Amino acid sequence: MVKQEDLQTIASSLQSFLEDLHSKYESRGDGTVANYIPELAKVNPDLFSICIATVNGDVYEVGDYNQLFTIQSISKVFVHGLALEDHGRDYLLTRVGVEPTGDAFNAIILDEKSKRPYNPMVNAGAIATTSLIKGSDATERLNRMLDMFEKYTSHNVFVDISVFTSERITGHRNRAMAHLMLNFGMIDQNIEQALDLYFQQCSVMVNCHDLAVMAATLANKGINPMTGKQAVDSRYVKDILSVMYTCGMYNFAGEWAYKVGIPAKSGISGGIIAIVPDVMGIGVFSPPLDSRGNSVRGVKVCEELSQQFGLHLFECWRK
Ligand code: GLU
Repeated sequence: MVKQEDLQTIASSLQSFLEDLHSKYESRGDGTVANYIPELAKVNPDLFSICIATVNGDVYEVGDYNQLFTIQSISKVFVHGLALEDHGRDYLLTRVGVEPTGDAFNAIILDEKSKRPYNPMVNAGAIATTSLIKGSDATERLNRMLDMFEKYTSHNVFVDISVFTSERITGHRNRAMAHLMLNFGMIDQNIEQALDLYFQQCSVMVNCHDLAVMAATLANKGINPMTGKQAVDSRYVKDILSVMYTCGMYNFAGEWAYKVGIPAKSGISGGIIAIVPDVMGIGVFSPPLDSRGNSVRGVKVCEELSQQFGLHLFECWRK
């Protein structure tokens, strides 16, 4: 497992390694862009960027790293952090579990016995988590969420209104999950407000550079390495990373943990964040997805980075 003191050695070869990886995979044509709403279907499949931000604030990046896209499911990681800050670990555990499901992210299932959604990374769990965000009304809750994202990105963020509106109009499956959870008393009455906030969090715009800085903040005990400011209470970083490690990569999470070996989360718009604790955050963006919903190029890039630099958390020897 790579450590902070190895950063200098790694850093000298990082930029050229990223450039080589980018050229190696940019012509790779497999995968399908998400098409459940027209706004995502019309994205250019050739967009591709890789970015690494270290806990010291150094950045290495290649490709379309300024291209904005909706954060989608990657938002679940950060909203999980906000819910932990709002309610603490024990209470949150009574409402959302931490078990991987092995099922698709949008499966309409709850734990038989506890009636909790399985974990905060699948849609049901994310909707339950989002419903717990504190605020006196919808505006205050949205503003608290945007403020939270801004602590991670170091700049203002906004919601893409057309993606949000489409998600909201077509989100019947998510609405069904919310009703099921309402039926079991796992979320409160105001499910339309919770769903709106969930669709808004998925529609927050970021670029690949942002993803890497957000990941580096989690790698850096919750302190944004660019601003030096705390984005999330350091007490909760281990909770966030544990859930990412076991549940972050859809129903590929086990194989990812086995092969790549670092906490990560992907989103349906083609982003992936991965965290090397105490060392760096990785962001990759490339819209074509594999059958599990993970970016095809994103997975390849992270596999190669992990192998090349010995990033796997349980790697016991150095090359
Ligand atoms: N907005 C999407 C949904 O809720 C997020 C999907 C994803 O990125 O996994 O279905």
